Amino acid sequence: MPGATRLGGAAHPSAPDAEGADLAMYDGAEPGEVLTAHPHDAEAAPAAYEQAMFPRSAAAAADGAELHDLLFGGAAPHGLIAMSTGHG
Ligand SMILES: Cc1cc2nc3c(=O)[nH]c(=O)nc-3n(C[C@H](O)[C@H](O)[C@H](O)COP(=O)(O)OP(=O)(O)OC[C@H]3O[C@@H](n4cnc5c(N)ncnc54)[C@H](O)[C@@H]3O)c2cc1C
Repeated sequence: MPGATRLGGAAHPSAPDAEGADLAMYDGAEPGEVLTAHPHDAEAAPAAYEQAMFPRSAAAAADGAELHDLLFGGAAPHGLIAMSTGHG
């Protein structure tokens, strides 16, 4: 959405994979940092935040999808057992 910057679950809805709340807290803290770095530029601060946030949340989403597949996918629970025992 032009002119709006999203944080947390509004930017990247998360599967129950133990990372969504961490990312939401990170998203809550980072705008303070980018606003401090770009105090007089209302365009640069959100752009810097989004440039870091998009790949960070995409990586977490990929991890979440992988974990979801381990827990609930067609091969469950064998993949999870193999991972837990160091054989996967
Ligand atoms: C079943 C499940 C299990 C999960 N387990 C984990 C886990 O173990 N570890 C982990 O890190 N993450 C987990 N997550 C993901 C995590 O819950 C979310 O990523 C995180 O809560 C997002 O935080 P948020 O503050 O951005 O959004 P939310 O926690 O969704 O908060 C948004 C708030 O805004 C309110 N709101 C919405 N619209 C309005 C409005 N118009 N006006 C006022 N208020 C409004 C909502 O009521 C809500 O309270 C899980 C998610 C689910 C669904």
